[in-house]
Amino acid sequence: MIMAISRLKKGFCSKAKVGTVQFRFAQVFDLQTRLFMVVIRLFATVGGFPMVQEIDGFNDSLWQQTAVLGPKTGLLTESKTCDVAIIGAGFTGLNAALDLAKTGHSVCVLEARTLGFGASGRAGRQVNMGLNSGPKDLISRYGQEQAERTIAMMQNTPRTLFERVQKHQLDCDPVQTGWIQSAVDAKVFGEQKALAKEYEAFGGGLEVLGKEELEQRSGANGYVGGLFCPSAGSVQPLSYTRELARVAMAAGAEIFTDSPVKGLTQTGNGWELTIGSALKVKAGQVLVCTNGYTDDLVKGLKEKVVPIRSVLIATEPLSQKLRSEILPNQVTFVDKRRLILYMRYDRDGRLCIGDHGPMRDIFYPSDFEAVKRRAVKVFPQLASVSWDFHWGGRVAMTMSHLPFLYEPKPGLITGMGYNGRGVGMGTVMGINLAKAARARLDDQESTDLDFPFTSPRGYPFHRFHPLGAKIGIAWASLRDHWQENRGSQK
Ligand SMILES: Cc1cc2nc3c(=O)[nH]c(=O)nc-3n(C[C@H](O)[C@H](O)[C@H](O)COP(=O)(O)OP(=O)(O)OC[C@H]3O[C@@H](n4cnc5c(N)ncnc54)[C@H](O)[C@@H]3O)c2cc1C
Repeated sequence: MIMAISRLKKGFCSKAKVGTVQFRFAQVFDLQTRLFMVVIRLFATVGGFPMVQEIDGFNDSLWQQTAVLGPKTGLLTESKTCDVAIIGAGFTGLNAALDLAKTGHSVCVLEARTLGFGASGRAGRQVNMGLNSGPKDLISRYGQEQAERTIAMMQNTPRTLFERVQKHQLDCDPVQTGWIQSAVDAKVFGEQKALAKEYEAFGGGLEVLGKEELEQRSGANGYVGGLFCPSAGSVQPLSYTRELARVAMAAGAEIFTDSPVKGLTQTGNGWELTIGSALKVKAGQVLVCTNGYTDDLVKGLKEKVVPIRSVLIATEPLSQKLRSEILPNQVTFVDKRRLILYMRYDRDGRLCIGDHGPMRDIFYPSDFEAVKRRAVKVFPQLASVSWDFHWGGRVAMTMSHLPFLYEPKPGLITGMGYNGRGVGMGTVMGINLAKAARARLDDQESTDLDFPFTSPRGYPFHRFHPLGAKIGIAWASLRDHWQENRGSQK
């Protein structure tokens, strides 16, 4: 029976040849949906057959196995009043909480699930320069003065994060050995060189690598060149989250988990949040730090981000020989395409590799086949290693491809939309949210923000985003395939 089911599934989701291009029906119509699995489960349960394994994107991650213990947190059990209420306990919310608590403000963090339950406890852990735009684009969007602040922030993002780790003694396996972004063809390489040049006018930050140098530093063949960012690196993301919570609590912040915020009401002097069915938190300012896990709490906010999924796999600890061939010196690596592939070692020498995933929150073993194939293509030595961990989560994309700092109502501020670069960006956004909240509590203008306040565009027809994202991903995949074939014919 299970064989027949799997053949049936394979049939539905098999590759159809379109000319020379292999195109996955499943990427557009994704017949491996939850519903499909529910029906299959029902049959299997009734028939007493073994079931396809479900993978929990949070609990099955490698980070759960290697993270430090978090501080003790629990449910909110009584109503409270504070200066600032923060919704969401990830990098953004906890960095904001830490800074506000340090300046003596009373802070109450409310998290629907557990510390790092969102993307922060699942991330690929790369800490990089952060934005998908270069200086020229930022100047045209924000104007010279604001853009210069944003550019400086971006250049300093890894430094800001690693300094925080050092200053607060956060136990999160920090490694600052640089980041390589490879170019698949001359066009991409040309764009990378232009970007590095743009940064030179603002003090630099990116170095251009020729083909041989890229091969030498990464161990990867088949690229025409790339970029190197020496200040970048990585952290253990769940440890980083838990450690931020620990130091924020030590500084006086209160953090409540399993405490979803269900309602938000504006009052005469601030906001009232409803937690669960009856408890209230009154706050002068509210920071919404829910990124890809944003729900309907703030009207219209969910429509401003599309939560696509990213999946990650981790190998067994690799031998010293393999580690000297694949990403020697622990450099972090991105294969730059429309659909990127990203890689990094953990502290035990497991190679962690990430790719785009299906548009749902429960994963199945078949969701990880494509990333394994891609990884082996870049590093053929991986063909015989075992893959010990599989997990994934939501990445918040925005229309502008940039994060936003946004105040939909006075005293209700949000920062999100990192487009897959939220380890560093979430950190600096949290710092900026704290600055903005502090200024408003003191009735002052915030003049020193790295991001401007903007009114981000929402996605039209957001309700249909799962289908739209699948079509977009399938189209991007097709274009990457064409680009690679064109490149290899040269
Ligand atoms: C698989 C994966 C790999 C990634 N890899 C990288 C990488 O290598 N480098 C990089 O820079 N970025 C990476 N990212 C992106 C990065 O992890 C995120 O941008 C970042 O973690 C966002 O942090 P955050 O604190 O804003 O949001 P999150 O960590 O997502 O936290 C939001 C929290 O809000 C809570 N919440 C939502 N609604 C409510 C409510 N009503 N009440 C209370 N709580 C609520 C959620 O439970 C959640 O815990 C990756 C993301 C994923 C999923």
